[in-house]
Amino acid sequence: MTLANTTTDIGETWRAALDHAAGCPDCRAADDGCATGQSLVHTYQQARRAHHAEGTQ
Ligand SMILES: [Zn+2]
Repeated sequence: MTLANTTTDIGETWRAALDHAAGCPDCRAADDGCATGQSLVHTYQQARRAHHAEGTQ
């Protein structure tokens, strides 16, 4: 199980999304970005949501 890891990697997932967007012409040109950028942001949002759920319980 990697559930515990997910909550601690929020910063890493966000930085991965930022790093990709900074070097990806598609993400810089479009508001929604490319499929890879969306996937990275989605991963970050999921990690943040999991962290939130844990903190409020
Ligand atoms: Zn991109």
